[in-house]
Amino acid sequence: MSSKILVLPGDGIGVEVADQTIRVIEKLNEQGLDAIYEKDLVGGASYDVNGEPLTEAVLEKAKNSDAILLGAVGGSKWDDVERSKRPEAGLLGLRKELELFANLRPALVFDALVDASTLKNDVVNNLDIMIVRELTGGVYFGQPRGIEDTSNGKKAIDTQVYHDYEIDRIARVAFDLASKRNNKVTSVEKANVMETGVLWREVVKETHKDFSYITLENMLADNCAMQLVRNPKQFDVIVTDNLFGDLLSDCAAMLTGSLGMLPSASLGAEKNGKRYGLFEPVHGSAPDIAGQDKANPIATILSLSMMLKYNLNKPELSNKVENAVQQILSEGYRTGDIYTDETQTLVSCSKMGDLIIERI
Ligand code: NAD
Repeated sequence: MSSKILVLPGDGIGVEVADQTIRVIEKLNEQGLDAIYEKDLVGGASYDVNGEPLTEAVLEKAKNSDAILLGAVGGSKWDDVERSKRPEAGLLGLRKELELFANLRPALVFDALVDASTLKNDVVNNLDIMIVRELTGGVYFGQPRGIEDTSNGKKAIDTQVYHDYEIDRIARVAFDLASKRNNKVTSVEKANVMETGVLWREVVKETHKDFSYITLENMLADNCAMQLVRNPKQFDVIVTDNLFGDLLSDCAAMLTGSLGMLPSASLGAEKNGKRYGLFEPVHGSAPDIAGQDKANPIATILSLSMMLKYNLNKPELSNKVENAVQQILSEGYRTGDIYTDETQTLVSCSKMGDLIIERI
């Protein structure tokens, strides 16, 4: 049966990078992908037409798809719109409704871009790590929260909460991923000072019993931040909570040097043998270059490659896409964001799409 992909280009360069990625889907369909895609609106583009950033109809389509590819949402045009109708609310709504609790962000350094990293060549060359961040729990959602007036002045409260089932399910995603990679998971918390850290460590240890062939290491979050810049190649899969994951995934991302190269996936619970998955670049809608055919489409194309690997069970097609990207870069083609000197060939977003498609 054909796979159903819902494409939500969103706003700004989201539209341009999604267009190039759709062309890659079409090319892969000639090579055995067998996917049907449908485009719809999300974010500001949806607000302009429907008065809301995510309609019930689009949500229903998302639930009936095998995977969702999203471009980016947002832009200053919607700055004055009330918070619940802002473009970002569309994305948050999708994450919530599809229970996308696991955020996967690979930090992969392509040979040709090793100099784009601020770290020394030998620290980052051939780097390939995966950060798995818990996305729907922890301190960003815990209650009580708020700012109160007290007799001692104002008081702000955030609460970090984790249930054992939330830790178990994210740990399972991490162990499962590691089994398709290099069989090592580093679980990161602050068990030395936080109760949630103690429970996190306990539950991950218990879950590990089902994956005893994977090496499990526990690390404190502050040490992990340090190790990421000191010796990132010691890691394979890092699993951590929402707050630490937010910080550590940005830190790991910068090891690779460029925002236009970073894909991501958000996976949900398995229901009736199906796991929801939303695949999107890490970058935003880049209003400064939108509509100019300058955006780097590689992050979105690599997000499709993650979809092929983790949702559609087509690892061989995923490898084809990654190899094509690798090849284009080693041939010296660059969009503006990764262009560094005149030995390289500066290309537009659509030309980069052409070149990658030719090499798939
Ligand atoms: P941004 O990621 O859009 O842009 C930051 C800088 O990186 C800009 O200079 C931009 O030109 C450049 N850049 C980003 N992606 C690029 C690409 N693919 N190719 C070439 N250059 C690229 O972040 P921002 O400027 O802080 O935010 C702009 C808008 O995007 C805001 O409305 C923000 O809320 C939204 N946003 C959305 C998402 C999302 O949809 N997931 C994520 C981040 C920001």
